[in-house]
Amino acid sequence: PRIVVGLGTCGIASGGGKVMEAIKEEVAARGLDIDIDFTSCIGMCYREPMVEIALPGAASVVYGDIFPDKVAQLLDSHVINKTPVYEWAAIQIPGEATPYEGIDIMEQSPYYEKQVRSVTSRLGRTNPENIGEYIATGGYEGLEKALGMERQAVIDEVKKSGLRGRGGGGFSTGMKWQFVYNAQGDKKYAVCNADEGDPGAFMDRSVLEGDPHAILEGMMIAGYAIGADEGCIYCRAEYPLAIRRLNLAIAQAEELGILGENILDSGFNFHIRIKAGAGAFVCGEETALLNSIEGKRGMPRVRPPFPANSGLWEKPTCLNNVETYANVPFILRKGADWYAAMGTEKSKGSKVFCLTGKINKTGLCEVPMGITLREVIFNVAGGIQGGGKFKAVQSGGPSGGCLPESKLDLKIDYESLTEAGSMMGSGGLVVMDQTTCMVDVAKFFLNFTQNESCGKCTPCREGTKRMLEILQKICDGKGEMEDLDTLDRLSRVIKNSALCGLGQTCPNPIISTLEYFRDEYVAHIVDKR
Ligand code: SF4
Repeated sequence: PRIVVGLGTCGIASGGGKVMEAIKEEVAARGLDIDIDFTSCIGMCYREPMVEIALPGAASVVYGDIFPDKVAQLLDSHVINKTPVYEWAAIQIPGEATPYEGIDIMEQSPYYEKQVRSVTSRLGRTNPENIGEYIATGGYEGLEKALGMERQAVIDEVKKSGLRGRGGGGFSTGMKWQFVYNAQGDKKYAVCNADEGDPGAFMDRSVLEGDPHAILEGMMIAGYAIGADEGCIYCRAEYPLAIRRLNLAIAQAEELGILGENILDSGFNFHIRIKAGAGAFVCGEETALLNSIEGKRGMPRVRPPFPANSGLWEKPTCLNNVETYANVPFILRKGADWYAAMGTEKSKGSKVFCLTGKINKTGLCEVPMGITLREVIFNVAGGIQGGGKFKAVQSGGPSGGCLPESKLDLKIDYESLTEAGSMMGSGGLVVMDQTTCMVDVAKFFLNFTQNESCGKCTPCREGTKRMLEILQKICDGKGEMEDLDTLDRLSRVIKNSALCGLGQTCPNPIISTLEYFRDEYVAHIVDKR
């Protein structure tokens, strides 16, 4: 028998550590011989703390909302009397065994039915601190395969897969690798952007905590393909568990000769180090991130030159985010065609999203590109809390636009979201109901980006301040109708003239709410409330 406790950050925050202690105590008190292990977040954050019980020859049952006071009953019923506690069960994973009647099978359950499990396939299923479990589930096979190929062939495979940057930019990953491969330089770097800072976003943290070796493997494959021998993961310091698991993964891979000198006897050398970020949102911008690694103030650089030609320490640098690198081992192992079969014509594969806001099921999901917003919000996330009415969804972090009900059937891909006035961003989805004031929402997000503006260029530094003042005036009931035109004009000027992505996208919440929820601005102005 095996008992596994979810100890990702969501599990720990919900009390998973205490549940683990209670399980150990109760198992000892009963003299049971059971393997007790832990895993990461399976995605159902709304049911944490989660506990899985697997008995030999029986389907494995994952329970939700298990607190210490439920542990004794759980052990007595499921482990000793071989009867699951049906009302606490969230899902079951049958494997070879016959499934239990009355418990949703994972893939057929309302939460997972529309999902795919690719990048997230090990999350909640393996122990992320155990390299053996990574290898047993196909880990490092992609690297082994890549090392047996020509470097250009590896790049071609990634190009063929159609993988695009999952950090939000949506640039072709294979093309980016090609630029770095073609660039002249005695030294090249592969850098991972793990500086996830959007409010409501935790995709990268979940992948880092749940499958750290996949990021190392993806970086190693990139390093081999572009001709780099050094990698750096820039991870925000607010993710201590992710940093700890990455460090552990690096040490384990080095010990097995998978990372370091002469990897897998191929002659390829690659080292990875971790740099903890100091908390500035703008350091998620790739050139500010490079400055920060170099010990300089984290401010964006003027481009060109682009990092592919002059990046870290002015050397050609391949910069991708966590989810992008985590996709690479699967593409190499299963083939570009397998990957390209998922998604839409221009947006291939799957995307991990964080579901937050006024929905019933807050958590992490992975869906094929091309799924509609309606399916994600109403099928996966279970609709609006308390039977409320959907009002808007904001995708893409603080710089994303707010889309109304009329856009719910929009297919999720890079182009569609941008055309509708929002963006893919890194993958946060914040859902709002009928009680939300959209002017407040616009002010909240602009306040965030204004605080995080690094101040290097005038449109972003000054423009966001002026916009915030106007929004405050409107919220205080002192707004004029002309303010709406000024907001619109300032938004477009900042969008077109700011130096980096933060400034270029931060007016999106204002532009989109002015377009789709203008009546709420007018109500504030006319009713003076
Ligand atoms: Fe800094 Fe904003 Fe200019 Fe970017 S757009 S460089 S964050 S001031």
